[in-house]
Amino acid sequence: MAKQLREYTWDEVKNWLVIDSRVYDVTKFMSLHPGGAHVLSDKNVAGQDATDAFFALHRQEVLQRPQYSRLQIGTIKGEIALVKYAPEELSQVPYAEPSWLASGYFSPYYTENHRQFQKAMRKFFVEVVAPDAQACEDNGKRLSQAVVDKLAELNIIAMRFGPGKHLKGLTLMGGIVKPEEFDYFHESIVLAELGRLGTRGYYDGFLAGDTIGLPPVLNFGSPEIQKMVVPDVLQGKKFICLAITEAFAGSDVSGLQTYAYKDGNDWVINGTKKWITNGMFADWFTTGCRTDTGFTVILIPRIEGVETRPIKTGYSPTAGTAFVTFDNVRVPLSHTLGGEGKGMNVILSNFNHERWMMCCVMLRTQRLIVEECLKWSQQRQVFGKPLNAQAVIRNKLALMISRVEAAQNWLENITYQMNHSYKEQSDKLAGPIGFLKQFATRTGRATAGDATLIFGGRGITTTGMGKLIENYHRGSPFDAILGGAEDVLGDLGVRQAMKKMPKNARL
Ligand SMILES: Cc1cc2nc3c(=O)[nH]c(=O)nc-3n(C[C@H](O)[C@H](O)[C@H](O)COP(=O)(O)OP(=O)(O)OC[C@H]3O[C@@H](n4cnc5c(N)ncnc54)[C@H](O)[C@@H]3O)c2cc1C
Repeated sequence: MAKQLREYTWDEVKNWLVIDSRVYDVTKFMSLHPGGAHVLSDKNVAGQDATDAFFALHRQEVLQRPQYSRLQIGTIKGEIALVKYAPEELSQVPYAEPSWLASGYFSPYYTENHRQFQKAMRKFFVEVVAPDAQACEDNGKRLSQAVVDKLAELNIIAMRFGPGKHLKGLTLMGGIVKPEEFDYFHESIVLAELGRLGTRGYYDGFLAGDTIGLPPVLNFGSPEIQKMVVPDVLQGKKFICLAITEAFAGSDVSGLQTYAYKDGNDWVINGTKKWITNGMFADWFTTGCRTDTGFTVILIPRIEGVETRPIKTGYSPTAGTAFVTFDNVRVPLSHTLGGEGKGMNVILSNFNHERWMMCCVMLRTQRLIVEECLKWSQQRQVFGKPLNAQAVIRNKLALMISRVEAAQNWLENITYQMNHSYKEQSDKLAGPIGFLKQFATRTGRATAGDATLIFGGRGITTTGMGKLIENYHRGSPFDAILGGAEDVLGDLGVRQAMKKMPKNARL
């Protein structure tokens, strides 16, 4: 039964704490207060309006935690709370939402259906995913099966492979969007809500391996292989990852040393793979191998001879980053994806989608960082003024906002092209997607640096006010390496443009 809250006058609350018109009886909690009991009995706090003092030190979600919310005994008569805790609603902070969601702005790209879909997706992410994201980011465990089951129930796992025949007959998000109407803007909404959580390790742990490991099976696997793998992955019963990189083969895949040779009707595979996302919990490994006919992609189940060990990186182990060894692993030749010696086509075919997905997530996190900085620079007082009274801080905010807005507009344009010319993606869009990813990761790191300065010590502290800034500062370099290193992608874009230069172009 909900606790009855009383209304109090200011005269009645002398020994208690008032935060944003809510009255808290902290007498029993004082000795437990992490900042010391004296803070709560200070004459400027006890029985006074402690709102500013509280929000100078705590994030608003602290008040929602059961151990603190149960201390509330009432409200101040005639006053209403100013700070509304409503993470599922659209933020009213300028630039905190992309302009298509901000009131008073228009977009040529998004329909009413996208808006409905976004609303439902945000509610789902706030209620179901966010608590798991924070817990796993901190404890390093993989995302919980309960969340995976819910993702499968709403067919969100399937939606992460974009529009296509794999959606046929599925009920998407309880029926909000029909499979044949699902487009890349819908998918970008799923990714944006993931990015808005601000937990970089969890983002990769949130089945990033599936999103890069399954497309080669969907596009190049035999019907038997697809039947064996696809339904279980889409239903969240099994997990898959992409295992290409090795110690001597990163940007340059030609250095691959994992070797597969034929023995009767089997491949026998030996070698190692490095930094394999979700490898720690994957059941299947879509693996790049050197064979006598060239580069071949082979689907390897977690069977005898396959071992995975965690690699410690700067972000949370919830990503399941693995060092994988294959020791005389035997799989049938029918596990070849895309034909012998044709592995490069298989791998290249999903690069654009992978990089575009990364842009969707990272730009939404970048926007979250802008929101954090706008809020903090308004509430933090220095030298008797809010932080945003300093021109140097406003200049940082101006650059942050411009960077994320520029990239968002570019992303929407590319997404629109994807909706119209998926087949031509590699020809037309590989360059622009490469450039966008390079731009987004460079601007992301610039914004991470500026945000850290705005937050000071809090910006490099993993809990409390600056925790999202710290996570972003630590996580944004990952975006610059994974899915194609920043410089490599810029170079790819220019080389693509050079190929299309008219031979007769002259100054
Ligand atoms: C956390 C994490 C997760 C990952 N997940 C996966 C995964 O799931 N599956 C998988 O197969 N791989 C994965 N990778 C590997 C990732 O794709 C590679 O790290 C990336 O391709 C770069 O390779 P490298 O680290 O060997 O760097 P290198 O290839 O050694 O390059 C180092 C740097 O040299 C520069 N450089 C290299 N070549 C060029 C060039 N031609 N032009 C200009 N500059 C260049 C770039 O700046 C680059 O950053 C992951 C990596 C990490 C760190």
